[in-house]
Amino acid sequence: MRNSLIAGNWKMNGSLASIKSLLQTLLQNRERFKQTEVSVLPPFVYLELVQQYLQGSPITWGAQNVSSESKGAYTGEISVPMLQDFHCRYVTIGHSERRQLFGETDQQIAAKLVATLCGGLHPILCIGETAVEREAGQTLAVVSRQLAEAIKLVDNVTNLTKIVIAYEPVWAIGTGRQAAPAEVQEVHQAIRAQLNQRQPQLGDSIRIIYGGSVKPEGAAQLFIQADIDGALVGGASLLADQFIEIAEQCKR
Ligand code: PEP
Repeated sequence: MRNSLIAGNWKMNGSLASIKSLLQTLLQNRERFKQTEVSVLPPFVYLELVQQYLQGSPITWGAQNVSSESKGAYTGEISVPMLQDFHCRYVTIGHSERRQLFGETDQQIAAKLVATLCGGLHPILCIGETAVEREAGQTLAVVSRQLAEAIKLVDNVTNLTKIVIAYEPVWAIGTGRQAAPAEVQEVHQAIRAQLNQRQPQLGDSIRIIYGGSVKPEGAAQLFIQADIDGALVGGASLLADQFIEIAEQCKR
């Protein structure tokens, strides 16, 4: 049985004041989303604050990026041991904004994935096709290639089960165009089958969540699909009421 996950990707948003208020509201309402794990992914500089607020609560936290190196002359980078210092549970890897705006390659993503797993954190591996790729009928091929490239350096199947996969069609991120639940289900099913090919039952134990303009209105229809184990939420995770409503609808 896979536990569900609703993770809030705050991206480069928030201030001390707004984050305190958001965390307080989440904590006050935690009884409303008892049936799913809720996690928040703040900008690095707020990790200590988030830890102070959330430790001892059922809400977990993580980071939005990490270096594949553990220390050294890498100006501006943050390592896995640094995230461990703040008890991060998750780290997103390969988000399309990192791929597109910062030129992250499949090779870098694979190295980050290994570093994260070696440090005992759970990577949230983001994969997904662009609008052009979808229109060209390449969705499954693109997602399959990104997945294979990302996990190719992981030799240990036990480690692989710690990965959360976030299927995030690029055309749905931040656009208000959530993918249709049936479209998402088709891709998630294919991802699971690919993982089961790597190792029998591996795909059945890995959580596959969807990201791309998830809002409270469309959430329930997503979560009733057999292979959708939750959501990676961007914009709506900054609005406490919307984020809580989404999490409340994830009863798995
Ligand atoms: C994201 O950035 O991972 C995301 C899903 O964003 P949004 O919900 O705003 O589309």
